[in-house]
Amino acid sequence: MLELLFLLLPIAAAYGWYMGQRSAKRDQEDISNKLSRDYVTGVNFLLSNQTDKAVDLFLHMLQKQENENEIESRSQFEAELTLGNLFRSRGEVDRALRIHQALDRSPNYTFEQKLLAKQQLARDFMTIGFLDRAENLYILLVDEPEFAENALQQLLVIYQKTKEWKKAVNIAEKLAKIYPQENNIELAQCYCEYVQSLNTENAIEKRQILQKALLVSSRCVRASILLAELDMEEENYPQAIKNLEEVLRQNPDYIGEVLSSLKLCYKKLDQLDNFELFLIRAEQQVKNDEVDLALAKLLEEKDGKAAAQTKLYQQLSKKPSTLIFHRFIQYQIDDAEEGRGKDSLILLHKMVGERIKQSAAYRCSNCGYQIHKLLWNCPSCRHWETIKPLSAQEHN
Ligand SMILES: [Zn+2]
Repeated sequence: MLELLFLLLPIAAAYGWYMGQRSAKRDQEDISNKLSRDYVTGVNFLLSNQTDKAVDLFLHMLQKQENENEIESRSQFEAELTLGNLFRSRGEVDRALRIHQALDRSPNYTFEQKLLAKQQLARDFMTIGFLDRAENLYILLVDEPEFAENALQQLLVIYQKTKEWKKAVNIAEKLAKIYPQENNIELAQCYCEYVQSLNTENAIEKRQILQKALLVSSRCVRASILLAELDMEEENYPQAIKNLEEVLRQNPDYIGEVLSSLKLCYKKLDQLDNFELFLIRAEQQVKNDEVDLALAKLLEEKDGKAAAQTKLYQQLSKKPSTLIFHRFIQYQIDDAEEGRGKDSLILLHKMVGERIKQSAAYRCSNCGYQIHKLLWNCPSCRHWETIKPLSAQEHN
């Protein structure tokens, strides 16, 4: 309740100011007493959780003062707006809506004041998930210079939620014009989402959009991966390799995500030696379990299990890793003679495997949200490109 009283201070201050202003003109005492009485009654209703009665009283009180022209329209408007916001902040959005709608409909306020009321009304609708109604209000506000930026940002939130990616791209482009950024991750991700939502086989159009993504965010790994997918569909493996290897420069945290596609491309070209060279280069640049495992697999295919096993043993001696340990035990099992020793290894392998399956493979670097698959937008904090593979983060 202390918090409530604190939030009500602006309203009290508005009344106090009003009282001060009026004192020279009228018999202040009577009005002051009346207002104070009504105000105290309203606060008491709030404190005793009779919020409906409180809202009715405040609205009635403000309406009456307005009719009697006893309060300046501006301070009254601000007081009502604050009251509405107070209710929304307390989660009582239906009451906030009633107040903000009354302000929006009132014939006594200026056009600018009504725009403010519309902005708060849109926030109320956002809070309760009435996105279409919020959208309509924000579309109106986009044409008003003072409200445009906030309205565009909120429209972008709406279109991301409703997955209307063409509209999201349009809004994000407008925002980028107002505030140019060197690395516009949000716009780049909107382009990628748009490409993935397209029901067309038109690779040229998709490529053009993905190039735009790279233009606004040159480190957009997702755009490179999507471009490589288009290349692979067209069996243009050299170009796919170029796009996939670009990930190492753009953001090495994601290198594990492209290794299987990269290996496939090199295999198609019969150039697995070049894949090995790439992995060695990547290994020198980043510490990533997926790179070590891919290298071990390649060694196994080329030089046999013993070579792979030695490689993993070296890795494990440098830094323990559950993923690498799991693969290492597999090699040990393959080598072991039948008996209790081998049975124990099989049991250990199974237990470690279960542990890997149960634990999340990805984590949001912003809010800590953990998940089993890679998402480009965190479902918890809604940030873009903050979910990273744990195989990369463990080394950071
Ligand atoms: Zn997050």
